[in-house]
Amino acid sequence: MSDDIHEVYAIRYGHHKRKAAENYIHGDPHDVLEPLDFYVWAIVGKSGAIVLDTGFDAAMGKKRQRELITPIGDGLKAIGIDPASVETVIVSHMHYDHVGNYDLFPRARYHLQDCEMAYATGRCMCHQALRIPFEADDVVALVRKLFDGRVVFHDGEDEIVPGVTVHHIGGHSKGLQSVRVKTGRGHVVLAADASHLYSHMESGRIFPLTYNVEQVVEGYATLKRLASSPAHVVPGHDPLVLTRYPAAKPGLEGWVVRLDAEPK
Ligand SMILES: [Zn+2]
Ligand SMILES: [Zn+2]
Repeated sequence: MSDDIHEVYAIRYGHHKRKAAENYIHGDPHDVLEPLDFYVWAIVGKSGAIVLDTGFDAAMGKKRQRELITPIGDGLKAIGIDPASVETVIVSHMHYDHVGNYDLFPRARYHLQDCEMAYATGRCMCHQALRIPFEADDVVALVRKLFDGRVVFHDGEDEIVPGVTVHHIGGHSKGLQSVRVKTGRGHVVLAADASHLYSHMESGRIFPLTYNVEQVVEGYATLKRLASSPAHVVPGHDPLVLTRYPAAKPGLEGWVVRLDAEPK
């Protein structure tokens, strides 16, 4: 079967002002701001709409002191996707900014790596240092979906639909997976937190929140290998994504961009 071609969108929903030094192990010599944006992604093809990650809601933004700009449901609706009709959600990993809004997709099955669920429910969560990016309510919500028959597990590389595959990267979180999508301009790779910013994979530096440093740096090579070119890799938290790619349609500038379009 030949792989289907997909449209791919990045939908920004949140923002966090922070200094560059906070984004790297060993810091950064420049005393400048280097904020993070928060995104979810939509992949649209013959098989319907697939949503990668489910963000956080207003209450979680407040708790974590992260700015919610626009709820993710509004972003999806802006490109014609009704969350209630989405049947496939891919979870890159179970950190609070990737698995919230759990009642928004009542029909969806959630695809994640075996070892991410095991990590988030096992002995590593005995340690405060490893628990920091997880929320018990998020983890419980996903366990409830598991018992409702709505979780699909993957171990390593797997196909979601023709032209959309998941790839275990690990590193930042034990079961972190990135997503490769066949598009009209070649294979685009949605790194999620396998590279928070372009600078991480370009300079080989590491975001401080890390389970396994070796897997992070090996992951940068994997992302580039999976993509049609290094420029086809889309980092998970970089505000530059919104300026490198065109708006999905007029009026969505700075909010929803089209990743299967040629960068500007
Ligand atoms: Zn993360
Ligand atoms: Zn994240």
